[in-house]
Amino acid sequence: MRLVLFGPPMAGKGTQASMLAEKLGLLHIAMGDLLREAVAANTSLGRKAKKYMDEGALVPDAIVIGLVEGKMKTSNSEAGFILDGFPRTVEQAEQLEQFTDIDLVLSIDLPFDRLVERSTGRRVCRKCGAVYHIDFKPPRKPEVCDRCGGSLYRRDDDKESVVRERLRAYEAQTQPVINYYDLRRKLKFVDGDKSIEEVGMRLLEAIFDKWPELEVKVAKAEAARKAAGEQKPPKKEAIPGIKTRRQQGRGRRGSPRDRKKKAGGQPQKKPRHRPKKKK
Ligand code: AMP
Repeated sequence: MRLVLFGPPMAGKGTQASMLAEKLGLLHIAMGDLLREAVAANTSLGRKAKKYMDEGALVPDAIVIGLVEGKMKTSNSEAGFILDGFPRTVEQAEQLEQFTDIDLVLSIDLPFDRLVERSTGRRVCRKCGAVYHIDFKPPRKPEVCDRCGGSLYRRDDDKESVVRERLRAYEAQTQPVINYYDLRRKLKFVDGDKSIEEVGMRLLEAIFDKWPELEVKVAKAEAARKAAGEQKPPKKEAIPGIKTRRQQGRGRRGSPRDRKKKAGGQPQKKPRHRPKKKK
């Protein structure tokens, strides 16, 4: 299964790509992460990419294609992969076709006004960085962080004019690539104006439309995962190497049964409390 996922900024594309990769056992190739890893590792591709990333410009096609191809060769992508943040240009899509086929392209679709609402309502804690939303996840006290009591603020890049500019740039950049896959009948739109869970379900439905046999497999794997998650992990030893009485299967200290044993079969009687007689 070879997938590509598109989605405008703030549509939750990264979250959905990770969820799909986990549920379907796919390799998640997030282009932004791959580039940041290359920069952090100071590889020659990373060094070349850095100056473009610092300017917020697209990194040249040859570099990103080299990174994707390398990642596919060196990682286990037998079950398939999901590309997130790649391809971003028609040139990248054409180059990708030279070394692998794409089966399905999913595009998370939602009106720009909703995305503007999502970002302009976002508030971030100055102290601990916790994220809120004035409508969807409001703090208990307005403008105050629930977690640490710090004050909340709106980031500069969450201002409406900045957000609209980012969305316009996304559209101008992505539309030709969307058209490229549409012409090849690989594209499906998924309604993104829903909760994270619902969007996830719709993405899966679009995938099951193409691979119906997967639906039962994924449901079974999910049930098994849930069952495993519900089993309580064994209690840790308080002092490494020393088990509690309970862990040794010896019950609690001082239980009535223990006291009875100690007393040679007779349960120890506690002195009864008698109220003092009034004189
Ligand atoms: P992202 O994490 O997706 O926002 O990407 C961070 C930065 O990496 C972008 O601002 C670009 O400089 C670069 N980048 C990510 N994906 C690509 C791509 N497919 N082609 C070129 N540059 C990219």
